[in-house]
Amino acid sequence: MSDLPIPNLESLENTLGGLEGKRILVRCDFNVPLRDGAISDDLRIKAALPTLNWLLERGATVVACTHFGRPNGKPDPKFSVALLRTRVEELAPGVQLLENLRFDPGETGNSPEFVKYLIDGAGGLPFDGYVNDAFGVSHRSHASIVGPPGRLPSAAGRLLEKEIDVLGRMRSSPNRPFVAVLGGAKVSDKIGVIEALLSVVDRLLIGGGMCFTFLKALGYGIGDSLCEADQGETCKRILDSGASILLPSDITALSPDGDIGANSGEVRQMGRSIPDGWKGLDIGPGTAAAFGDVIHEARTVFWNGPMGTFEDPRFAAGTHAVSQALADTKAFTVVGGGDSAAAVAEIGLTPYMDHVSTGGGASLELLELGDLPGLIALRN
Ligand code: AMP
Repeated sequence: MSDLPIPNLESLENTLGGLEGKRILVRCDFNVPLRDGAISDDLRIKAALPTLNWLLERGATVVACTHFGRPNGKPDPKFSVALLRTRVEELAPGVQLLENLRFDPGETGNSPEFVKYLIDGAGGLPFDGYVNDAFGVSHRSHASIVGPPGRLPSAAGRLLEKEIDVLGRMRSSPNRPFVAVLGGAKVSDKIGVIEALLSVVDRLLIGGGMCFTFLKALGYGIGDSLCEADQGETCKRILDSGASILLPSDITALSPDGDIGANSGEVRQMGRSIPDGWKGLDIGPGTAAAFGDVIHEARTVFWNGPMGTFEDPRFAAGTHAVSQALADTKAFTVVGGGDSAAAVAEIGLTPYMDHVSTGGGASLELLELGDLPGLIALRN
């Protein structure tokens, strides 16, 4: 990983000039979670308020746009932004919200026609400026992210700036020891970031479903736990490189007749070897304590990915222990979005973190590559 800082972006002050009466398109990430037909966490909407209010206070007409779920390029009432619009009107009166960008296949396909439709006003009057405040999708070359910056005066919003500042400083000049904790299901998604992180962190802790491909590469039996056989060689090479990686020493596993989320089967603590048919679904208590010790000694901690299938309370202890350790440590703590941010929010620990990123995939890609398509578009 290069130790160069992430290049600066143009801020709102520098690019947009006088805003009175100007129409500004703001790309937001309002892809909020729903439960029982209501918004269960509006953090992503609240996170955009500094930008929206700054523009409103200067007399701009503010039109926000977002994707919402995966409607597959056609209108689908299930993914309408109506609920979001109500919440946006409550939190930022005066801000308009366009319909779900992904109702048009040109959004994910980055079609020039859809870019033109957007900057021409998306059915309204043409826009005079563009702001990207959607960090969570800035790793995607989607029309609303990479299209407008080449055509309109454009700037980074406050949320985007803050994400880049925190993650960029963590990447280039962290206080040490710098510890990264990675979990989640797929190791193949994270090989790039593991290799990049290993050149900058002092210690890497690996839990979640991805630890089993590593344990198998060390020769342990992993039963029916998640495993990506085609990643075995890569995992072995990473382990043989001498990097300071801590893998689980004990596992919480489910018997062959059990199902995740169904409260069936037997749950047992075991060491690193898992019998045939059993599934490793969480780090064990010994590992949770060991990870906690390393987190307490750290000065910077980055965490992405749950330690187990935390959606099932029988396998949530490891994820909760890591959340608590991050809340308790004096280190500068960054939660890299996604499921880890959801777990931290669920147990009420978000206020104890120094930074909870609004982008899981985006924060990993920024740490790995040092730049994102959305940022490159803004700088050009
Ligand atoms: P990711 O999107 O790669 O961060 O993966 C998140 C998902 O990984 C969550 O839905 C977890 O339930 C799942 N997960 C975590 N640990 C395990 C495990 N040991 N076995 C299977 N799935 C897991």
